[in-house]
Amino acid sequence: MNSDSQNDFDVVITGGGAVGATLALELERLGYRVAVIELRTPSFTSTNPERVIALNYGSRCHLDRLGLWPDVVSSGGGDIKHIVVTEPGNRGRVDLDVANSAHATPDMQELGYVVEMGKLLEPMYQRLQESSVELISPASVAGFDVLDQQVKIQVQREDQLFEITATLLVGADGTYSQIRFQAGIGVFGWDYNRFGIVASVACEHGHSETAYECFRSSGPLAFLPLADGRFSIVWAATPGEATQLLAMSDDQFIDALGKAAGETTMNQIGTITATSRRASFPLELTVAKTFATSRLALVGNAAHTVHPVAGQGMNLGLRDVAALVEMLDSELAHNDPGQSIMMQGYAETRRADVAAVAGFTESMVHVFGSNAPGVKWVRGMGLEKLPRAQKLSDLLLRQASGVGQLRSREIAA
Ligand SMILES: Cc1cc2nc3c(=O)[nH]c(=O)nc-3n(C[C@H](O)[C@H](O)[C@H](O)COP(=O)(O)OP(=O)(O)OC[C@H]3O[C@@H](n4cnc5c(N)ncnc54)[C@H](O)[C@@H]3O)c2cc1C
Repeated sequence: MNSDSQNDFDVVITGGGAVGATLALELERLGYRVAVIELRTPSFTSTNPERVIALNYGSRCHLDRLGLWPDVVSSGGGDIKHIVVTEPGNRGRVDLDVANSAHATPDMQELGYVVEMGKLLEPMYQRLQESSVELISPASVAGFDVLDQQVKIQVQREDQLFEITATLLVGADGTYSQIRFQAGIGVFGWDYNRFGIVASVACEHGHSETAYECFRSSGPLAFLPLADGRFSIVWAATPGEATQLLAMSDDQFIDALGKAAGETTMNQIGTITATSRRASFPLELTVAKTFATSRLALVGNAAHTVHPVAGQGMNLGLRDVAALVEMLDSELAHNDPGQSIMMQGYAETRRADVAAVAGFTESMVHVFGSNAPGVKWVRGMGLEKLPRAQKLSDLLLRQASGVGQLRSREIAA
């Protein structure tokens, strides 16, 4: 349904994060005329601390199909070959390994990959520049009107206000999505009253390609292996704890981190020798009441923001992209990608996966977050028995690796 006018598009995507950029590249490949409106001027340089993301095997296959994966890994990524789950103060531990997963595919060597957000975005933007996708940035959507056959979108770029049209508008503009808000789509969810503290730390014994998940009663603490041998940590803390952690000297922070990680993890990684600066993010659960309405679809964090405990947010967003692309890959869709059957089909397809990941993440937060004596006892039993409880450990592996959500064509690719 291409139009001749420069300002008429098939699909306009608001938000050029990793989810929006991937969607733009895929839809352009299907022959759609696409524009991306991004608020910021893209920057790919490392931040301090590094903003990293753990991608599962399913996301790797997705990026591989687009030809992006070689560039993402060549700029440096850490492999996750093992995951160790511990609870400080509890004797039990769970060791997850790609070799003992019933879900592993023959060519699967790793459970996941840790990449810097800038290094993930850089090859995507390089490909966007080479493509016919119109990148409108720095800019935002001042308003939009949904009509019968199209959406009229008012774009604000510096002091310039102009109008473009699309048959489909996609909100990929993150947790506080303006598109979702302007469309009047409400959300379910809550604030966890926790902050995620992020930092990169060096340890005496390095990481041996192992990620550690330490479940403390005030929230989980994750150690993700970086390519340079350090760990990136995400530490869920109460507001009071977070304020203190941000205000501490490096030595005080290293000391507090070692205590929070617990004996089992510290025995493996050794003394923490250095830390980067620290940053913090509020942690919340937000799920849009619907993922699509008339001529409008939501993807990525604009549709759902989950607790980072299981590192699933980006993976879930990339699966939104796969579902929307699959929906729009037909002659019927090319006639009108925003038609209601497409939008309803997309919303329907995504509901079960998002509910499953939100539920799984919630259960991890709550089971490990409770101090009730019964729950604590069951939890201790669970951690000790988990290696033998194949079903439970498979469920964790399925989520961690993303294999359970891979489509057969991705596995075959
Ligand atoms: C501490 C922490 C750790 C995490 N770790 C992991 C992990 O290990 N693995 C994982 O899978 N997920 C993880 N996540 C979640 C992951 O970061 C998000 O799910 C993912 O970044 C969402 O991508 P997105 O493109 O949907 O949104 P974003 O990355 O938020 O991108 C949105 C884009 O929209 C732009 N934008 C915003 N407003 C507007 C506007 N009005 N107009 C135009 N553009 C706009 C922004 O500039 C941005 O470029 C973590 C999250 C946190 C907070």
